Amino acid sequence: MAASLPGACFCGEVQYELTDKPMFTHCCHCTDCQTQSGGAFAINALIEADHVKLTKGEPVPVTMPTDSGRPHIIHRCAKCQTALWSDYGGRKVMLFIRVSTLKEPHAIEPDVHIFTRSKVPWVGLPENQRQFEVYYDTKKEWPPEALARREAVLAKMKK
Ligand SMILES: [Zn+2]
Ligand SMILES: [Zn+2]
Repeated sequence: MAASLPGACFCGEVQYELTDKPMFTHCCHCTDCQTQSGGAFAINALIEADHVKLTKGEPVPVTMPTDSGRPHIIHRCAKCQTALWSDYGGRKVMLFIRVSTLKEPHAIEPDVHIFTRSKVPWVGLPENQRQFEVYYDTKKEWPPEALARREAVLAKMKK
């Protein structure tokens, strides 16, 4: 098992720890991520909710509307409003951790770049990181070990 990865909001009121390495990491260039983060993209590490351990405080859920109609719930610190993670579709079992809130955010590199159709034009991307105009085929792009973890966590949801 990977060493635990600590993270926190800007003010430190909410602190957490990832108790396993993320399954897969997205660098998302969609316009929603750009607007919601105020930056050129959002870096999201996908992990089972069971592997996100709160060590201080608790974030508050903020529901954002999406084009798909499924809710996008952003969990923010109540005090400083930093976004710590997202729950896409209200699935609860899998979270999209904002990598920039980890203590060592640069230790994680994205596996894929998605929604590059709306990438900020002057942002260059590394050749070795796969790029997708919109989204990708999970079964094709995820390594087998991560796919197995994903299937296990989604099976849990159906129960
Ligand atoms: Zn805070
Ligand atoms: Zn996005």
